[in-house]
Amino acid sequence: MLHAQLEPIYDDIVQRNRGESEFHQAVREVLESVGPVLVKHPEYAEQKVIERICEPERFIVFRVPWEDDRGEVHINRGFRVEFNSALGPYKGGLRFHPSVYQGIVKFLGFEQIFKNALTGLPIGGGKGGADFDPKGRSDREIMRFCQSFMTELYRHVGEHTDVPAGDIGVGGREIGYLFGQYKRITNRYESGVLTGKHLSLGGARVRTEATGYGCAYFVDEMLAARGESFEGKQVVVSGSGNVAIYSIEKVHQLGGTVVACSDSSGYVYDENGIDLDLLKQVKEVERERIGVYADRRGGAKYVQDGSVWDVPCQVAMPSATQNELTGDDAATLIRNGCTAVGEGANMPATPQAIRAFLDAEVAFGPGKAANAGGVATSALEMQQNASRDSWSFEFTEQRLEAIMKDVHARCFATAEEYGMPGNYVAGANIAGFTAVADAMLRLGL
Ligand code: GLU
Repeated sequence: MLHAQLEPIYDDIVQRNRGESEFHQAVREVLESVGPVLVKHPEYAEQKVIERICEPERFIVFRVPWEDDRGEVHINRGFRVEFNSALGPYKGGLRFHPSVYQGIVKFLGFEQIFKNALTGLPIGGGKGGADFDPKGRSDREIMRFCQSFMTELYRHVGEHTDVPAGDIGVGGREIGYLFGQYKRITNRYESGVLTGKHLSLGGARVRTEATGYGCAYFVDEMLAARGESFEGKQVVVSGSGNVAIYSIEKVHQLGGTVVACSDSSGYVYDENGIDLDLLKQVKEVERERIGVYADRRGGAKYVQDGSVWDVPCQVAMPSATQNELTGDDAATLIRNGCTAVGEGANMPATPQAIRAFLDAEVAFGPGKAANAGGVATSALEMQQNASRDSWSFEFTEQRLEAIMKDVHARCFATAEEYGMPGNYVAGANIAGFTAVADAMLRLGL
């Protein structure tokens, strides 16, 4: 339910951003939480902070022409939303996926503002990408696409301005090609312009693992707040990309057993626990479909139809993509005894699913809190680049763990303060929103 004062504001946002359903969904979720904040802080309404926060500072759309290996020319559309720089340079990933359009970029950028604020580090919110499908493309094609993309983007980014990183379809390889083109055009070895770089290019240790590790730490904190732990728990992780793989690794280290994971072609059920080396080999090295995992692993079952959320578990970690976990899936999970959910992906649970989890008192960690470890470690990479330093794995991981504990504590305390104990959705939205709103007021109109 929206606070009465917010109804017309939300309607206006929908009108002005027609057809951008994912953006509407992300805005609505935040606005539903901030009603009580307006009562406590009338200055936010007076200064129209909500209207200001929902309007990007800048939205860039550009043409990305490139040539495939056969010499055929293709045109894609590139995007960068520079959403909010009250707390620091715009910061957020790039997504290369055919579903990318301005509604997706804006929803991701909007979430990023509050996620980044929750880390307590000096980073604003941004996001970008292209409607390019990297599936089946050769390494040379990926390189040419990245070079063309950066040939336009370079004029908008910079270590003090806007610092992109990876997201779906953009990993270390793509960041390397993007950085190479930035360096070539500007003649500057400005490592801090991109994060998620290879170690040899000024990257940070733990950045690859950070989103997944961070999500597992966050869930561990939610469990600890209820006097529980991962020990002996069955866990389902959707996806099998970077976030999923490193969530599985950390869940296993923390004593849980991940019994299922998935990709767009189906899911695998492995009651003995996912074999991580095999999963990495299939998904990262061979870039194969998940069914290949089951072919090679005795006892594992590949399921093509149906949902990974049908697999009974006590903890669910949706780590694939937006709106992948529906209200029906949530009902199935709750029925099967799931008591904790951590969103590794951005907005993977639909509003109906979130409602069902909160009503059933499932500990639900929203993505803007639970998956903040990735961007937090990007901020640590920026710190290392700024001081021309390189930290050890152990030190960086300690920092990540401490940051995730802080994010959890911030959400937990804010939910209590506003009379909604245990509601991490409200806690994350309110804590993120007030941090950004206060900085905006201090900066003036
Ligand atoms: N794409 C990641 C996210 O959704 C990371 C962004 C970054 O490191 O800048 O938070």
